[in-house]
Amino acid sequence: MNWEKNVRKVEPYIPGEQPKRQNIIKLNTNECPYPPAPGVKAALERIQYENFRLYPDANITELSSELAKYYHVNKEQVFVGVGSDDVLAMAFLTFFNSDKPVLFPDITYAFYDVWAELYGIPYKQIPLTDDFTIKSEDYFGENGGIVITNPNAPTGIYKEIGEIEEIIKANPDVVVIVDEAYVDFGGQSCIPLVEKYDNLLVVQTFSKSRSMAGMRIGFAVGQEKIIGYLQDAKFSFNSYTMNQPALAVGVESVRDDAYFKETVGKIINTRERMKVEFKKLGFEMTDSMTNFLFVTHPKVAAADIFNAAREEGIFLRYWNKPRINNYLRITIGTDEEMDTLIDFLKKYLA
Ligand SMILES: *Cc1c(COP(=O)(O)O)cnc(C)c1O
Repeated sequence: MNWEKNVRKVEPYIPGEQPKRQNIIKLNTNECPYPPAPGVKAALERIQYENFRLYPDANITELSSELAKYYHVNKEQVFVGVGSDDVLAMAFLTFFNSDKPVLFPDITYAFYDVWAELYGIPYKQIPLTDDFTIKSEDYFGENGGIVITNPNAPTGIYKEIGEIEEIIKANPDVVVIVDEAYVDFGGQSCIPLVEKYDNLLVVQTFSKSRSMAGMRIGFAVGQEKIIGYLQDAKFSFNSYTMNQPALAVGVESVRDDAYFKETVGKIINTRERMKVEFKKLGFEMTDSMTNFLFVTHPKVAAADIFNAAREEGIFLRYWNKPRINNYLRITIGTDEEMDTLIDFLKKYLA
């Protein structure tokens, strides 16, 4: 049993449930209810399975170039990984190597502390204000790096990029990661700031706004130097991270900007309509700029709503954690799905 004392023990991140049951309404993991761009289907049909005997492109040239074109940077400024989780994990490993703590909010994406624990990186969770916002000044002191999710999750609150820039500017000696998993739903990306700041790494994903959580595509944008360090770490870990189908469909998704904007527009419309509907039912909520709502009811416990909805086949997300244990995170589905949820809530709360 002695080998166990040398194990790198970690309490893992717990992803949202992926229920096996059919005919459920799945509003618990912020997937997009609409299919990926039509070109994605066509790309899959063109794939020749015989080529699977060959290794994929280790340099991810085509997808990096397509993303570079889309974001007006060059391809040496783009790093692609197996979902943004892979990109973020690689960034933690590469850039957070200081004795000083890495800073991120107490309420944010629950994977950051898990990576810090896994790699033995010191970290400090900075409390959000009482109204769940990030105070820039809290990130001006000495630290070993910073991670900010913008808009933040699960609060949904967007921080103006001018305020994010203050944090980046105040921390030239460490890397600042901005996780923009939800930025396409109404926020402004920090990508234009990479030109000015060599310590900035912006991370995004195809999982939410591009309807491709199942293909596992994420990416980071930064100056060539910071991306180069990330590439060195990747090639010291696993050269062939992206499989052939993912590379092929990723390119087509980026090319079809009209479809992308249409899908995102539909989600935003449904979200804004739902804000009104939830308020009518007595819920209080943040002003979400994402594809989910973060709601609480002054009279009914979130855990009870969560369980009752689940019984009805409607899956929501609930965390029994300090400060947010009376909140629900509800992914924006189709209008029809959301109306079914509203009908259920009307009956349940009556
Ligand atoms: C969903 C999410 C991710 C991870 O997404 P991938 O599917 O791994 O690309 C990263 N950060 C935040 C804040 C997220 O919500």
